[in-house]
Amino acid sequence: MPGFEFFGAEERKEVNDVLQTGILMRYGFDGARNGIWKSQELEKAICETFGSEYAHLTSSGTAALTTAMAALGVGAGDEVIMPAFTFVASFEAILSVGAIPVLVDVDDTLTLKPEAVKAAITPQTKCIMPVHMCGSMADLDALKAICAEHNLLLLEDACQSIGGTYKGKKLGTIGDAGTFSFDFVKTITCAEGGVVMTNNKEVLTKCDGFTDHGHDHLGVDRGADLHPFIGYNFRISELHAAVGLAQIRKLDTFLSIQKRNHTRLKNILSTVPEISFRRVPDAEGDSCTFLSWFLPTEEATRAFVTEMKAQGIMPGNFYWFDNNWHYIKKWDHLKRAKSLFPLSLDQQLSLMNLGSKDFSASDAVMGRCISTAISLLWNDEQIDAKGNKIVEVVKQVLGK
Ligand SMILES: *Cc1c(COP(=O)(O)O)cnc(C)c1O
Repeated sequence: MPGFEFFGAEERKEVNDVLQTGILMRYGFDGARNGIWKSQELEKAICETFGSEYAHLTSSGTAALTTAMAALGVGAGDEVIMPAFTFVASFEAILSVGAIPVLVDVDDTLTLKPEAVKAAITPQTKCIMPVHMCGSMADLDALKAICAEHNLLLLEDACQSIGGTYKGKKLGTIGDAGTFSFDFVKTITCAEGGVVMTNNKEVLTKCDGFTDHGHDHLGVDRGADLHPFIGYNFRISELHAAVGLAQIRKLDTFLSIQKRNHTRLKNILSTVPEISFRRVPDAEGDSCTFLSWFLPTEEATRAFVTEMKAQGIMPGNFYWFDNNWHYIKKWDHLKRAKSLFPLSLDQQLSLMNLGSKDFSASDAVMGRCISTAISLLWNDEQIDAKGNKIVEVVKQVLGK
């Protein structure tokens, strides 16, 4: 997954272009910046690379989700359906616009279970937010059909699946809007950053203003800008965009290495009949940042994790079920509505109800799931050694 593994002269060159002029901000200072517009250049490159009509950079992936929801008009009283397995950023962004996160089950795609989404729809539902976790995608045809039937927005959190596709289209460009994160551990990094992609010009214009204090960017200078609506500061800096510009040019290389390493590792794990793999709605489109796989029982999976840890070889393998960042089970702060500032009453009520909600269908999937991160730096011997070691430990805990 991480582009930071391939950081080098190209990134330094782009950053140096900016350092030469000293104009670190993306807006204004037209004369002094000497024609250097890294943020604009990166937005153009994102549109070309992913086939999105428009793209607007933000200071983070979380800011991108917040911005997208604001631009789509999601706010107070609205319910947003999201998966119980994701990164905490998903509910943070929903809460930040005053909306209510409605967490529902995932299935063996590790993403939203369409039947659970259907069952969660109420008159307050405004938006469905699939999260394309660990490099691969949600069942977008099923979710699009639900959106069409109930007149709902589709916002793709593609923060973890840069470069993945679904039926030939890039993830993040299929819904009403989609987001990437460019934080330090994502497929391409800006150190910190994110983007909203959309094919709707009006949504783009709203993102542009919302991320910069509501400035309409139509004045002769910033002081002359008008403010058609309230905004905040979710701007990216030119230094961050410069890093991303070097990284996006390497994306094809990253993806081809990921696919190659993923296939080699999967072939080794496939020799064990008890190991099954994550269901991928469009196998061609997996960005292959992780290989996610299942053991037959939670008990066997826990035994595997214990033995891998005992041998000191667990790093790089993730048991999300026990992870504080990624699964409902450990989100006590959310379930107890522990916000520093008072949340609205309807937000508090819905969060307090989360603790008693049944997620046994997700537990049955996540309790048996291991995701192995795919490194760009592995050579074949290293992949074989890792794969063989996993196979050995699996056989040991299964008593084979
Ligand atoms: C990383 C991530 C985000 C947020 O990105 P930041 O840039 O770290 O704010 C949102 N959603 C998912 C699924 C992520 O993995």
